[in-house]
Amino acid sequence: MTKYIFVTGGVTSSLGKGIIAASLAKLLQARGYKTTIQKFDPYINVDPGTLNPYEHGECYVTEDGAETDLDLGHYERFLNTYTSQANNVTTGRVYQYVINKEREGAYLGKTVQVIPHITDEIKRRMLMLGESGEYDVVITELGGTVGDIESLPYIEAVRQMKWEMGDENCLVVHLTLIPYLKAAKELKTKPTQHSVKTMSENGLNPDILVCRTEEPLNKELKRKVALFCNVTRDAVIEARDADTIYSVPLEMMREQLDRICLEKLDMPMGNEPDLERWKSFLNKLRYPKSSVTIGLIGKYVELQDAYKSILEAFIHAGAVNECKVEVRNIHSEDLTLNNAVEKMKNLDGVLVAPGFGSRGIEGKIEAIRFAREQGIPFFGICLGMQMACVEFARNVLGNENAHSTEIDESTDNAVIHMMEDQQNITQMGGTMRLGAYDCKLKEGSKVAEVYGQLDISERHRHRYEFNNEYLKAFEEAGMEAVGINPQTGLVEIVEYKDHPFFVATQFHPEYKSTVENPHPLFAAFVEAAKNFGNTRNGKIVFEKSTSN
Ligand code: GLN
Repeated sequence: MTKYIFVTGGVTSSLGKGIIAASLAKLLQARGYKTTIQKFDPYINVDPGTLNPYEHGECYVTEDGAETDLDLGHYERFLNTYTSQANNVTTGRVYQYVINKEREGAYLGKTVQVIPHITDEIKRRMLMLGESGEYDVVITELGGTVGDIESLPYIEAVRQMKWEMGDENCLVVHLTLIPYLKAAKELKTKPTQHSVKTMSENGLNPDILVCRTEEPLNKELKRKVALFCNVTRDAVIEARDADTIYSVPLEMMREQLDRICLEKLDMPMGNEPDLERWKSFLNKLRYPKSSVTIGLIGKYVELQDAYKSILEAFIHAGAVNECKVEVRNIHSEDLTLNNAVEKMKNLDGVLVAPGFGSRGIEGKIEAIRFAREQGIPFFGICLGMQMACVEFARNVLGNENAHSTEIDESTDNAVIHMMEDQQNITQMGGTMRLGAYDCKLKEGSKVAEVYGQLDISERHRHRYEFNNEYLKAFEEAGMEAVGINPQTGLVEIVEYKDHPFFVATQFHPEYKSTVENPHPLFAAFVEAAKNFGNTRNGKIVFEKSTSN
């Protein structure tokens, strides 16, 4: 029978519930248990696809094309297994389903209410992955913080599940904060007591407390927390601030979080967790032999969650290369022809980020021109690839007004245009070209060498594509389409020949990079940046740049 673990949060947001959930899952997986994680978010959006990154950070895309919370990215990166639409549920999705059923007459004249109809639907979805028979343990992270009005139906659903299944099948791990007051030189447990009290007022008592803290928790303090929060003595876990999120599984193993969970769930301990690959990754991450500076050009760079998967993919790729990847954020709105030399000096690589809309677009094009002309390793993703094509059309092919119709609808040089099957779409949510699609690589290309195979599959999130009418001119001038979707002929990757590394993809490779499977394109890009850094020896060659 599948066991269920719920991870709730108290005191404040941003305590790292996703990382704790992913770390616990990693430990259980490393003990031989088939484990998955799902996230339930209390907001009314049906999914985060329509949310601005300022609101909600990156939108993570799964194989099956679900637009999901960025925590699913952490789950995949830690567990090295795929998630799907079923792993991310929002209040909006739950209500949409219940309301549609009501319209169908499925409730047979009954009054439809939060309890039981909404809570039943939440429970049905909480159990769904477990009922597939694929997993020994399903970990469910509840978004938001205990005490929020919108979290109430979820807490109630978990309370009912615990009552129905028993404590040995259903466990609640509550993540909380023990702040250190400098003036008093003391750790304070009161906020934790309050958050547990709020939960108990709703009928749910946590079984385990994971306490975020800047200072170590001594035995006496742990005892006090256990006593006042009504958990067993061994169930107060210290979660000190870590140097990297990737050390949290090992920290949690040291604190025996996995052991205590298994004991409480009446499950055999299984094997000692096999974390050899994980530790070797961590070792490489902590003790790099070199470093590179990559310019990340985007319009949300001030927001650390907006390009989460890209930043994590750099961490994985850096470790493979035993190289520290310093990411220099460059706001595309601030970048112009006149300041590109200054803003982009000493970069070993340039990544132009995905995005939507016109803000900062000319800065992205400028960054690409600079990287192309200077021979700086360049990696463009999605909008970054599209702008690489616009830049090439303008500055190499001489089509001055070339653009994407997303930005300039009236351009008579639409090198990027809307995909045909997108043209009559009026609904915004979930209607882009989403998820995994096949791609055939060109033999002899750099990307074919990097992947080590010709048939690949990558994840997408876009409405626009390269306009194949321009393909011949592009290829004659050295910009080749080296990855093509075999079903539609859509250009998935372009590569510029006369350059040490100039690769741009319509898909998002960052979504598939994991600790145990770093993405080959990121790894190759970092390697190219390393080589470039070594050869230029701190200097930039300006001769070729038109901005000189
Ligand atoms: N806005 C572009 C499109 O829709 C690129 C999307 C992206 O970068 N994810 O095609």
